[in-house]
Amino acid sequence: MSSNELNSYEDIVNLAAQALNRAIIIKTSKVGCAIKMKDGTIFQGFNIESRGYPILHAEIVTILSAIRAGYNKNDYEAIAIAYEFKGNYPACACCRQFLWEHTNPNLIVISVCLETKEVNGYTLETLYPLPFPVEQAKTTLNKELSLNVVDKEQVSKEDLNGK
Ligand SMILES: [Zn+2]
Repeated sequence: MSSNELNSYEDIVNLAAQALNRAIIIKTSKVGCAIKMKDGTIFQGFNIESRGYPILHAEIVTILSAIRAGYNKNDYEAIAIAYEFKGNYPACACCRQFLWEHTNPNLIVISVCLETKEVNGYTLETLYPLPFPVEQAKTTLNKELSLNVVDKEQVSKEDLNGK
């Protein structure tokens, strides 16, 4: 994304950096997020860790707020993710899959490195071109399960006939 396009998301870039201060961390480092809906509503979130699992990443905490408020997949416009370590990290692989399943391919994902002040933006589709096909996997699993049930019935009938 060009810096002009990114400038139009300055609000969520700053709100993500602000949200980072509320992160509850034990093992990793602070991450803050702000997500902008197409109607202009903004939700903030941050990572929340526990001594056991699961660790809740900032992206997931933020999107859960939007889902609870009643928003749907196509209502999301952009998410900014702010962190204190060096490098360009627009969401981990787990969060990219989560974003794919609960938002839309046109979502703009903005990484905000507070250490270097570097800001980069991508569409989710560009960032995550080969998502795990959850619906397809579910269908295949159901077919396999029903085949197994049929096989078991046949085996048990043959067993009974033989006895
Ligand atoms: Zn993550």
